[in-house]
Amino acid sequence: MAVVGFDIGFQNNYIAVAKVITFCFLITNSKNTVFNFKRFHGRSFDDIIVQSERANVPYDLVPVNDGRVGAKVMYLDKEHQFSIEQLTAMLLTKLKDTAEANIQKKVVDCVISVPTFFTDAERRRVLDAVQIAGLNCLRLMNDTTAVALSYGIYKEDLPSPDEKPKIVILVDMGHSAFQVSACAFKKGKLKVLATAFDTHFGGRDFDQRLVEYFCTEFNAKYKLDVKSRVRALLRLQQECEKLKKLMSSSSMDIPLNIECLIDEKDVSGKMNRSHFEELCADLIERVTVPLVTVMEQAELQVQNVSAVEIVGGGTRIPAVRAKIAKFFGKDVSSTLNADEAVARGCALQCA
Ligand code: ATP
Ligand code: MG
Repeated sequence: MAVVGFDIGFQNNYIAVAKVITFCFLITNSKNTVFNFKRFHGRSFDDIIVQSERANVPYDLVPVNDGRVGAKVMYLDKEHQFSIEQLTAMLLTKLKDTAEANIQKKVVDCVISVPTFFTDAERRRVLDAVQIAGLNCLRLMNDTTAVALSYGIYKEDLPSPDEKPKIVILVDMGHSAFQVSACAFKKGKLKVLATAFDTHFGGRDFDQRLVEYFCTEFNAKYKLDVKSRVRALLRLQQECEKLKKLMSSSSMDIPLNIECLIDEKDVSGKMNRSHFEELCADLIERVTVPLVTVMEQAELQVQNVSAVEIVGGGTRIPAVRAKIAKFFGKDVSSTLNADEAVARGCALQCA
C-alpha cells in the first residue's frame, strides 16, 4: 500500500507519491461548483471570516450542523447542503482516486499539509474530513515544514553535524496565504527556528486589484456594472488572473478582451507590468512584514542567511520576488518545484 502526500491548496491541489502527480480544479458550473472552501473549516456561519469570504464565492453558504458553515448546491437536479468537512472529504476522495489510478495501488495512509496558522479546531475538522473519506492520516504537517523537508532532502551541500548549520529562509506565497519560515539545516537534520505568516495575503489579492481597475474602467467606458452579475464578475476574475500570470513573463502591454461579458457586450482593455505594480504598490510593501517578523523571532540578521528559497505560485510575480531579494540583499533561489514542494514534503515524511 502506498502512502501519499496531499497539499490541499486554496486554489490548487497536489498529490505526491514517489513521483509527483499534479491535479488542479477548474470552474465549470460556477453556482454549483464549490471551490475555495479551505478557509471555512471549523468556523460558524456567523464567523467574521466566513462572512467576509462570502462575497468571493459564487455558491451559496448556509448554516449547517449547529450553526457551522456549509454550502448549498444543486446536484442531480436536487438541492443539497454539504458541510465543509463533507466537501473536503469529497475532494480527498477524488484525490485518492486520482492517486490510485496513477500508481495502480490502493491508497489509505496519507500525510496532509495544512497552513502553519491553522488552529486546533481547523485541524480537527480536516481530520474529520479524512475520516469521512476513509483515509488514514498519519500526520497533519505544516506547509512550511513540508517545504523545509523537500529542501533538506535534495541538498547535498549541507554542513556536517559538527559544523554550523546552514540558515535558509523558505517563502511560500499561495493564492490566499503567505507563509515564511527560518530553518537551520545540517546533513540529516532540520530545525525550524521560526515561522511567520500573513493569513490573508496571496495571489488573489493581486488579481483583485486588476478586477477593481477593470470594473471601474468598464463602468466608465461601457456603462456596465460587472459587480452586479456573479457570472460576469467570475469571468473577469479569471481573465485578470490570466493577465497577471502573463505579466510575470512580459513587461509589454497585454490586452484583456472578453466577449459578451454582460448583455452581449464585448469589452476590452489593457495593462502592463509597471502599471500593475503601481496598482499593487501597497501589496508589494506588505511582503516584507512577515519577513521582518521571522527574522526577529529567529533572532537572525540578514547576513546570517545563506539562502532564500521561494515556492508557491504567488512568488512568480516579479515584484514580489524583487521585494524579497531586496530585503535579504541577495538573489532568491527557486531550486524546489514551486508548485509541488509542499506535497513532496508530505510524501517524503513517510518515504
Ligand atoms: P494557498 O497556499 O494559499 O492555500 P495554493 O497552494 O492553492 O494556495 P499556489 O498553487 O501556490 O496556491 O499558487 C496559486 C497562486 O499563484 C494563484 O494566485 C495564481 O494566480 C498564482 N500564480 C501562478 N502562476 C503565476 C505566475 N506565472 N505569475 C503570477 N502569479 C502566478
Ligand atoms: Mg499552498
